[in-house]
Amino acid sequence: MAQEDVFKKIVSHCKEYGFVFPSSEIYDGLAAVYDYGQNGIELKNNIKQYWWKSMVLMHENIVGIDSAVFMHPTIWKASGHVDAFNDPLIDNRDSKKRYRADVLIEDQIGKYEDKIAKEVAKAAKKFGDSFDEQKFCETNPRVLENKKKRDALQERYAEAMGAMDLEGLKQIIIDEGIVCPISGTKNWTDVRQFNLMFSTEMGASADSSMKVYLRPETAQGIFVNYLNVQKTGRMKIPFGIAQIGKAFRNEIVARQFIFRMREFEQMEMQFFVKPGTELEWFPRWRETRMKWHQALGFGAENYRFHDHEKLAHYANAATDIEFRMPFGFKEVEGIHSRTDFDLSQHEKFSGKQIKYFDPATNESYVPYVIETSIGVDRMFLSIMCHAYTEEQLENGESRVVLKLPAALAPIKLAVLPLVKKDGLPEKAREIIDALKFHFNCTYDEKDTIGKRYRRQDAIGTPYCITVDYDTLKDNCVTLRNRDTMEQERVSIDCLNSLIEDKVSIASLLKKLQ
Ligand code: ATP
Repeated sequence: MAQEDVFKKIVSHCKEYGFVFPSSEIYDGLAAVYDYGQNGIELKNNIKQYWWKSMVLMHENIVGIDSAVFMHPTIWKASGHVDAFNDPLIDNRDSKKRYRADVLIEDQIGKYEDKIAKEVAKAAKKFGDSFDEQKFCETNPRVLENKKKRDALQERYAEAMGAMDLEGLKQIIIDEGIVCPISGTKNWTDVRQFNLMFSTEMGASADSSMKVYLRPETAQGIFVNYLNVQKTGRMKIPFGIAQIGKAFRNEIVARQFIFRMREFEQMEMQFFVKPGTELEWFPRWRETRMKWHQALGFGAENYRFHDHEKLAHYANAATDIEFRMPFGFKEVEGIHSRTDFDLSQHEKFSGKQIKYFDPATNESYVPYVIETSIGVDRMFLSIMCHAYTEEQLENGESRVVLKLPAALAPIKLAVLPLVKKDGLPEKAREIIDALKFHFNCTYDEKDTIGKRYRRQDAIGTPYCITVDYDTLKDNCVTLRNRDTMEQERVSIDCLNSLIEDKVSIASLLKKLQ
């Protein structure tokens, strides 16, 4: 099945099974805004817990905060967002559709990469075991030609973006012959800058009201609270501050479901270090974060680092962690060494000293910062994409199963009475009443057991138990595993010890040590 079709299926699965709904759907929706349903919120909360605990519980020197969405507008002047948080946009005059110029060019780079990958796949099929991929890539004329085109384009693009050369970006689009996917024409307008921040008015009367922004990132809430936390928590450098919260960006092009939203959630951690040590800490956080992703068990081959060659003027190292989505490898997290840029800017704009006094050396300095920044919704999407599986069963039937890591699954255990009479429902309820303090359980008595299993498979419930007539005599139930579909008879008294350890967030955290 084409990857595009797989993605469409994942999007409709998310809706059909109560994970993600389009916002304001009965009013025909609101572009790039989504709501999470009854299963989505559980999965999302579990992702957040996994991240939060991996930061705050697992590190003695990381604490959390929850800052407000509204902040003093000067903060966004100091951070550079008012002047420079822009995307280059371009319109197609025929279709009247608007695009991000950088995305059009990145897609074009992706096309060259796809061509290379196709040549490699074709040759691998043709030559079988004797295929030497490296040699093939170094010698095949079509691969070499596409590589040359890709590298040249990449270089031109990086240069134009680095200098924010809007004419240069337009020229690349023209030279590459990029067409609008809707109209198929090259009738492009000039490239213009577009600020991504949403603003609103705060205050009751017209004269006293103030223009405020909906924060486009959570990080600034951490920077402006740096002194509060350092002083009240008596934090010693190096230390980190973590935060999970909503961020808002007026994205020009809303695409790919919850990959690019206008209201989304971030999990950010700023780690404050002594100047000069930041390039020791950067690789450590790079590895720590990759380990966090890979502990989910999706396979190392589905992740890669994308180190930034062109750095923002205030950064001295940056990398993205990319995940293989059905539409290619895409950024889910950024790790940046941001020097003392943000704290120094806030010193300058607020007129307040934001320094750390190091008692060991008697020096005062503005700390340097390593930040890890990940989108909850993108993480959600990557998990859904990896978990969604269509399986052909031996009996000729098929099933859709969400192979979610058990610790992230919305529901951990479904309790199913074989029939809804003769005391079986009561026994099932009794089991739930004992286990509900430990993990999320659900009860289902409607339809055949087979249909009920399918419903649980579709939302990723790792375990189901059936309560039958024998249960009333031997106090045992049939425990079914979602992935293997194997069933075993176990005593009700053992259920908690059999399941709790496997479905707890702690089971994931232990893999990080
Ligand atoms: P992109 O290049 O995709 O626009 P970015 O580099 O601007 O992303 P950052 O500012 O580094 O992203 O934000 C950190 C993380 O926040 C990203 O890695 C991503 O997971 C998430 N994120 C950013 N923008 C969005 C969005 N519009 N919708 C959902 N998640 C987002």
